[in-house]
Amino acid sequence: MAKIGINIATGSLQQSEMIVGIDLGTTNSLVAIIHPELKRPIALKEHDSSSLVPSIVHFDEYGNASVGEVAKGFLETEPQNTIFSAKRLMGKSYNDVKNNAGFFTYKVIDDNTESLVKVQVGNQFYSPIDLSSFILKELKQRAEHILKTPVTKAVITVPAYFNDAQRQATRDAGKLAGLDVLRIINEPTAASLAYGLGLEKDDERTIAVYDLGGGTFDVSILKITNGIFEVLSTNGDTYLGGDDFDRLIIQHWLKEIGLTEDELHTNKQLAQTLRLIAEEAKKHLSTNEVFEFDTAILNTPKSSLTTYNLKLKTPNLRLTTYDFNLLIAPLIEKTITSCNNALKDAGLAATDIDTIVMVGGSTRVPAVKNAVSAFFGKPVNDSVNPDEVVALGAAVQADILAGNNKDFLLLDITPLSLGLETMGGLMDVLIPRNSKIPTKVGRQYTTYQDGQSGMRISVFQGERDLVKDNRKLAEFNLTGIPGMPAGLPKVEVNFLINADGILVVTAKELRSGVQQSIEVKPQYGLTDAEVEQMLLDSITHAKDDIQTRALVEARTEGEQILTVTEKFLTKNANLISKDEMLATANAMQALQLAITMEDKNLIQTKTEELNEVTRPFAERAMDAAISGAMKGQNIMG
Ligand code: AMP
Repeated sequence: MAKIGINIATGSLQQSEMIVGIDLGTTNSLVAIIHPELKRPIALKEHDSSSLVPSIVHFDEYGNASVGEVAKGFLETEPQNTIFSAKRLMGKSYNDVKNNAGFFTYKVIDDNTESLVKVQVGNQFYSPIDLSSFILKELKQRAEHILKTPVTKAVITVPAYFNDAQRQATRDAGKLAGLDVLRIINEPTAASLAYGLGLEKDDERTIAVYDLGGGTFDVSILKITNGIFEVLSTNGDTYLGGDDFDRLIIQHWLKEIGLTEDELHTNKQLAQTLRLIAEEAKKHLSTNEVFEFDTAILNTPKSSLTTYNLKLKTPNLRLTTYDFNLLIAPLIEKTITSCNNALKDAGLAATDIDTIVMVGGSTRVPAVKNAVSAFFGKPVNDSVNPDEVVALGAAVQADILAGNNKDFLLLDITPLSLGLETMGGLMDVLIPRNSKIPTKVGRQYTTYQDGQSGMRISVFQGERDLVKDNRKLAEFNLTGIPGMPAGLPKVEVNFLINADGILVVTAKELRSGVQQSIEVKPQYGLTDAEVEQMLLDSITHAKDDIQTRALVEARTEGEQILTVTEKFLTKNANLISKDEMLATANAMQALQLAITMEDKNLIQTKTEELNEVTRPFAERAMDAAISGAMKGQNIMG
């Protein structure tokens, strides 16, 4: 993708707009911005609290929603009203999720297996889009509260493996929350951006992004060239994460304590307490060798765990790093197998990976880092907070979109205008440069000759008024237009650029349905320097170009009038008096001369004069089709 300044651009955003980056996670979500003074990404948080907002929505008996920590408090006590992991349901049908139905403690509706899932709470039904929108609304309000300014625009991240439906669902959730979602970007891309990867000119590298969160694991192999992040492969396990580490610790302790899992299941409070202590142990062991927990403190009123009436047969819960590593080794091994598969799918070897980026809270576990580093044979990048790295990268992308960082590449926009050649070799721009992609634009054209059965569609890229100064991307003929008078056919040309930057040009004659299309890759094949040169040329030649365009337009119109008049005269000689014929011939000659002289004003005057002379008899006989052609609009050869 080309590196371009964006201020001149149409459709680029105002500098003052605060665009936030949002990581809408399975377990936690958060908002980040580029700090206006520090010029670096920061995660937003209220004074002492965490930047992480649990992605949990609780509904009270009246259907009022609460989100985040408050909602999390109801996970154990009101599981049927407390929705977690809604992201797992995004864009899914019941068929897609039924194998994991046991995972959800709330009611996932199975009405019609083909339709998208809904969650039932009381007698209300919520789509995953609704649920995500509650989380996004909370994030928006938090951001507005912290920033003391309205927040209406956002970049939201999604897993690289999300399909179109899931991406669209995320976009819709944003819209429902009152956010204009400027871009949906892949989480691994965002994480790379947070490390500044791909932001340097000529940065070419292959990156592995290893993302181990609370409940999901994925690894993506990305290739960056000229600021384009291409996902070569992804792999993972959507039901593997730090929560499984916690579960293994609990099982380990249960054995020591002498309790069975069934006994644990019947005592919800004990289960919850153990889960919290297990998570604490895991986190503690990320920086210590031994974890010890004196269960006696559960009986002191100051402990946050006192509310739970835990009666253990042994007073201490203990875990060493050594034991913990043994417990989780099989799970880590599973993730390494995924890394191997991802590499295989990308057709790469571990040694081809230049950079490894760690994402997700569970990558804080030293054994995880060591295993990943050993597998790829390199140290991993873990200096950015792994819980925040995706949101921070989304903020970097948001800042680029806001136009605040002109040195950075602008991803996913058209670097140069795209258009068609119209009569006289003029460039008719359909998609102006710096348009956001995907995008679709249509315009109607007509013929200028009676019975014209084909139309040449020439696609150009560039900023100059004449196509000869721009770059031709593709050309094709729309053939088989049934014979019609000039101006009657309606040829609709559509330019569609999909999210991958592929331009598809379609031409369709609407009266007959004749259609033809071609695929072009507009972004590729031009170096940054070439794009810059083309932009520069368009500015240098702007004045000349305007004059040339005016001349060409006048000439084209003049030539069309001459052609049409000539045809009219041969066909309808009987309708015209001798004087009229003579006056017409003179006016035609004068116009012809003006055209040869390339004098715009003279051409316009002489065209007008010829029009005057022919008007009386033209009105008598001219049919609508010809008058259409004489207007000279949107005509192609
Ligand atoms: P995420 O989904 O990325 O927010 O990751 C959350 C997971 O990271 C949870 O399973 C946490 O228990 C885990 N986690 C957070 N901090 C640590 C830590 N210091 N050591 C180990 N795991 C952690």
